[in-house]
Amino acid sequence: MIVGVPKEIKADEYRVAMLPVGVEELTGAGHSVLIEAGAGLGSGIADAQYESAGASIVRAPAEIWSKAELIVKVKEPLPTEWPHIRPGQVLFTYFHFAADEALTRAVLASDATAIAYETLRDARGGLPLLTPMSEVAGRMSIQEGAKFLERPQEGRGILLSGVPGVAPADVAVLGGGVVGSNAAKVAAGMGANVTILDVNLDRLRYLDDISPPNVTTLYSDRHTIREAIERADLVIGAVLIIGARAPRLVRRDDLRRMKPGAVIVDVAIDQGGCVETSRPTTHHSPTYVIDGIVHYCVTNMPGAVGRTSTYALCNVTLPYVLQFAEHGWRSVASRDPGVAEGVNIDQGRVTNRAVARTFDLPY
Ligand code: NAD
Repeated sequence: MIVGVPKEIKADEYRVAMLPVGVEELTGAGHSVLIEAGAGLGSGIADAQYESAGASIVRAPAEIWSKAELIVKVKEPLPTEWPHIRPGQVLFTYFHFAADEALTRAVLASDATAIAYETLRDARGGLPLLTPMSEVAGRMSIQEGAKFLERPQEGRGILLSGVPGVAPADVAVLGGGVVGSNAAKVAAGMGANVTILDVNLDRLRYLDDISPPNVTTLYSDRHTIREAIERADLVIGAVLIIGARAPRLVRRDDLRRMKPGAVIVDVAIDQGGCVETSRPTTHHSPTYVIDGIVHYCVTNMPGAVGRTSTYALCNVTLPYVLQFAEHGWRSVASRDPGVAEGVNIDQGRVTNRAVARTFDLPY
């Protein structure tokens, strides 16, 4: 099979979808790998490293799209890439269709097959291709939140940890999944008072067991959310309903009850965001202020720490890429229902219920 890896073109995206070891494994199994020139530079991987692992370096992205049977990417194809997608081609990447109707319709029209990292499941029902990036984004959300709480960044001028004699910051984490628990771990490690809100009581029990004493768990309802965000200096949006648009847990009216200069890092922005006033931002221009509240809504947070993220992502995607190249995705999906759940669109048909429902499309 011919496997193609285009360079990511999303603003400030430094990840790449394959490591030299992936090239070595694929070519060793008799497949060809086309890597776009410079694709790995953002993650510190030179073309020569891919070449010596057996890849062909291709200058024109159009050539990769026209030759590859399997395209492996990091972020969803952007509008300039849509015309390159070919009928029958398989795309393996993050799509987040439910947050982007135009993308959904473009991939439907292309007659390609879209296997989405974010909905593929493992044998335990987990989301193995979302987890490492959620770990990165969760840990990074506190680093970014701490930065934007600084006064020159329009924040409240608060140090998360406090100092002896001065109280630490309050951090409210909406959603205690992978993003939320990693955010809480870092915030608690820095000495902040952390509250995690979730609707899954078993998850809250687990978090309560493993967390240090400066972490409190709360059942998430409208009332506790409002109270928690009123107290908070930093709010982390980390909820997920798989495949669907994020629920709007914080409304515009709620912002007025928050402390001026508080920061919201809405990590769930790639699923539409869990704050009514969230809109996607980029690493280049990450924040904006509404009603005195700093909003940070970067859709590809892990892209900024490309080296860590590329390795974390490729560690988990490569086993699937190898199987797709070796046996074809249909055969893999027929044996592995978790892989079948990753298939969101198959040659003009939506195959994910949540995506179909979001845009009222046949399923
Ligand atoms: P997860 O499934 O591990 O956790 C989500 C949690 O939200 C679950 O524990 C669930 O019970 C909880 N939840 C659902 N409804 C809730 C509600 N009403 N109130 C409180 N909690 C609720 O998901 P995750 O891996 O932590 O991902 C969270 C979000 O972060 C996703 O939208 C994901 O796509 C996004 N993400 C964004 C970036 C980025 O760069 N912006 C990077 C990685 C992940």
